[in-house]
This record gives sequence, C-alpha cells and structure tokens, in this order.
Amino acid sequence: MNVTDTHSTEPTITGIGVCPGIAYGRIFHLTQPITEPAPGMRLGPREDHRAQAKRISEAAGAVREELEEAARRTRNHQTRDLLEATALIAADPTLVNSAQDAVTNDYLTPERAVWEAAATVCTQFKALGGYFAERTSDISDVRDRIIAKLTDRLAPGLPIAEEPYILVAPDLPPSVAATLDERLVLAIVTDGAGPTSHTAIIANAKGIPAVVAAENATATLTPGGTALVNGAAGTVLLNPSRDAIALLQRGAHTRRVFHGHGGTADGHRVQLLANIGDPASAREAAAAGAEGVGLFRTEFCFLDRKTPPSLDEQVDHYALVFHTFSGRKVVIRTLDSGADKPLPFMTFGHEENPALGVRGYRSVRTAPELLETQLQAIALAAQAATCDVWVMAPMISTVDEAQAFVQACEKHGLNHSGVMIETPSAALMTDHIMEHAHFASIGTNDLTQYAMAADRVLGSLAELNDPWQPAVLRLIDAAVRGAQGTDRPVGVCGEAAAQPALAVVLVGLGVSSLSMSPRSLADVSAALAAVDLAKCQEMARLALGARSAGQARQVVRDSLSELTALAL
Ligand code: PEP
Ligand code: MG
Repeated sequence: MNVTDTHSTEPTITGIGVCPGIAYGRIFHLTQPITEPAPGMRLGPREDHRAQAKRISEAAGAVREELEEAARRTRNHQTRDLLEATALIAADPTLVNSAQDAVTNDYLTPERAVWEAAATVCTQFKALGGYFAERTSDISDVRDRIIAKLTDRLAPGLPIAEEPYILVAPDLPPSVAATLDERLVLAIVTDGAGPTSHTAIIANAKGIPAVVAAENATATLTPGGTALVNGAAGTVLLNPSRDAIALLQRGAHTRRVFHGHGGTADGHRVQLLANIGDPASAREAAAAGAEGVGLFRTEFCFLDRKTPPSLDEQVDHYALVFHTFSGRKVVIRTLDSGADKPLPFMTFGHEENPALGVRGYRSVRTAPELLETQLQAIALAAQAATCDVWVMAPMISTVDEAQAFVQACEKHGLNHSGVMIETPSAALMTDHIMEHAHFASIGTNDLTQYAMAADRVLGSLAELNDPWQPAVLRLIDAAVRGAQGTDRPVGVCGEAAAQPALAVVLVGLGVSSLSMSPRSLADVSAALAAVDLAKCQEMARLALGARSAGQARQVVRDSLSELTALAL
C-alpha cells in the first residue's frame, strides 16, 4: 500500500525500511548538535599549549569512561557491544595524538584540532568503503562527545519530550542509538546509515520501526510537524492526512493480534510458538496466544550463581512454565552454558575460543552430573504437568551426541527428545541424526555464527551475522531435506523466525514450526496467512539462489507485495 500516491499531497521521503511497523507522531530532532568550531581558531602564542593538548586526552578519557560505564549498566548484549566499540574508538590514540600535535605544533584550539583530526580519520574510512564507511558515524560521535567535554556542553543526545516521538537525524550516533528507549521513540528516520549500520541493528533489536538512507530527511521532516513512518516499505509521509493515517494504521503493527493458529492462506499448517526464558516470560507468551513454547531456555536458573540449582529448585521453576502451558506443547532446552552464556561453576580452565569450546551439550564431557540432575528435574516436573513436554539439547555437532542425548532422556522416561541444529555439521547430518532424535529445532542465531565464522555478539560483524545469508539458508535447506522421509519435524527457533519475510522463506524451505519472541507472533502469522505454500516455496527458491544476504532480502521483498500491503 502506498499512501503517498492516493491520500496526501504532502511530501514523501523514501529510504530503506530496516524494521517493519507503522508509527505516527510528532517529529523531533536530536538535541544539541555539535557544530563545527570555526576554522583557523588558534591559541595565543603565550598560552600553555602542552596543557591545552593534555585537555584532549583527558576529555577523551572521560568520554571513554562514560561509555564503558553505560556499557556496564546495560543488560542488552548488542547495546553493550556497541557502547564498548564506541569506547574503543575514544580510547584509540590515533585521533587524540593527531589532535594534540595540531595543538602543540599549529596552535589550533583543542576543539578545532579534534574536529580536524576526526575529519582526516573519516576520510580514510570513507575511502575504504563498505563496512568502514558506515563506521564514520562512530568516529563523529566520539568527536562530538570530546568537543562537548572540551567546551563544557552537554553531550549531544536524545530530545527530552513529554510524549513519544518520531526521531529524525542525519544518522544516530551509536552511543545514542544504544540508549534508545522504545517506549519513547516511536520510529527512527535517518538521512544516512545503511541496512547494516548500528542504527538499523539497534532499531531491529528494539523493534522500533525505522527507515534509513532517506535522503533529505532532516531537511524535510522539520521539528513540530508530524510524520507517518512505514518501516517495512521504507516510506515517511510528512503531515499525513487523517485518511492516510487511518488507512495505513488499519494494517498496522500495533493493532495486530495472533489468534493462536498459524498457517498459510491455503491451509498449510505452521505451528507458531514462543521463545521464553523464565516463568514470567511464559505468562507473556501465553497472553500473546502462542500455540506452545518452541524454546524454553533454562539458563535463568543457573545464571548469577556460584553453585548449580538443586533438583527441587529446578523442578519448581520448570513446573511453573509447564503449568502455564497446560494442554499445549513445551520444548524445554537443557542448559546451554559457555561462550555468550558463561557460568562460574562451569568454567574448567581457560579457553582461547569459548564459542568453539566446551559449550552447550558439550558440557556433559566435564560436568555430566549437571545434565543428569536437569533431566531428572524435567522428568519430575513433567510427571505433574498436563502439557506435552519435549526436551532438546543445544549445540549438537555429531550423530553420536544426538544418540547419547536421546538415550540419556529415555533413562529418565523422557521419550520425546530432540536436538538443536546450530552447527553446520549437524545441519548436514540430519539424515542420520533423525534416526535418533524425534525432532530438530534449528537455532539460526548460532547456525549463522558458525556458518559465517562470525562471533554473534560482535556488532561490528553484524552484516555477516545475518540469517538471510544464502549460505545459512542452504544449510537450513540441507537440514530439512535430510530429515525428509523420517516423518520427524524440523522447526526454527532462532531470531530468523521472527522476521515476517524470512518466515515465509523458512516455511517454503519446509520447516514445520516457527518459534520466536511473543511480540513477533502476530506479525509472522499475518505474513503467513497472506501467502500460499507455493508462494513460500517460490520465495525460498529465490532466496537460495541469491548471491548475498542483501540480494536475498531484496529479491524476496520485491516479490512479496502481500507483505508490503500489510506494512510488514
Ligand atoms: C540459536 O542459537 O538460534 C538459539 C535459539 O539459541 P540461543 O540464542 O539461546 O543460543
Ligand atoms: Mg544457540
């Protein structure tokens, strides 16, 4: 649906939609931009140039400390990564040293010197292109923070407004993006930034509709006006008419609900399940209409402790979740420790590469009693429950591991056990793995990390950690085909399942269930209900044939007008 053609004569801005959703609200710009200190601003010959130069390193140090402190405070790992990366730029001596030289040699004022030094670094990054060019906003962010310190001003940041607003900016400095509050910011529109920029990553992580690379956005979308943002189509309508707002909001993100039965328009059934991490999120998932739980992460009862939880403690926790989903299916995953989820009592010696180390199911090698106790607890909680309990192990990489896990479950009377497909090796071996496992669930977060050899917690590698990477889709395709003929279901429970267009592709590849954060259920179900199975299969073929993640996403989106009409 293109509201701009038919419902308003007001200007429309077009960019790249990086997070779907519709938002309407008043426009605000970022506050207190740091303007360029006048060229040629110099210190007098009698001033203490060394002392002035020293102020630069002090200011950079203070900025670094602030960013590190903010990183320590946040609980979101993407946000933390971003703040840490920006802190690293503030700590990098290149910018500071060259600014200090300009003060002591050319007598530039510290703020002018920092401005010029940052411009040089940005030019070098832009010349490198691609990923480096997109990092220039990080450098400008650090520059502005240092100059704010030197000139005794507040750091540039988010506007203070009484009501939630549409945030418009040339680009969002990463440290500002990291502190965005999704309750205050209805949508984001930027002139610059690309689909792999920090702005795009954070908007997606926080579910804030966003349009990036929208040329002239700040010049056209002036503060005080209103805007209607379509984060799927990548359009922004300035001062929209009431009709335009009503028409677009009819299919909007905020109003959509899930009715608890997933499937395509022609009745092909796809179970839509929830990913949960504790009993409280189980209640949220049930309220969102989830058909069941596709991934119950059990780390919550092991984290932040010096010793493992007792059998009884575990039984109590699991029973709460099973009770919430009485009569429905709950797939509980055994402890996934190590790498991005370290546990003090599970650390056995230093590992150079923890993501490739003793993590997930592999911890059975060093602490077999933990798995035994956990399976016992699951079995006890399941006995008292009326839900359908399935158990799976994370990070399986061989057929033998799958077989051993299934046997361990059987010993505890847990007869519906399966595996997560998170490593390329498991994805390629499902024909044999499914001789043992009763089901498989593809963890696209880790599968992408291992297929692309790119640490999933590194914001700087976000464009590699993209489940649209055709290599990842080909592994999913291989995993599903390997399991064909066994009659044993293969689902997806990574973040990929939560993206409406990608969900269509996954169904086309043959997965039978999708498990996601409860917030995404309504959108994914609306997307599937808008297409038939043949269309899903066609989209899967297109995505598999693409040469890059960007092309896969683009070619599918261009062929899925059904989703654009739903603002998805
Ligand atoms: C995954 O890897 O996709 C997954 C669902 O597991 P986690 O994110 O907990 O590692
Ligand atoms: Mg995983």
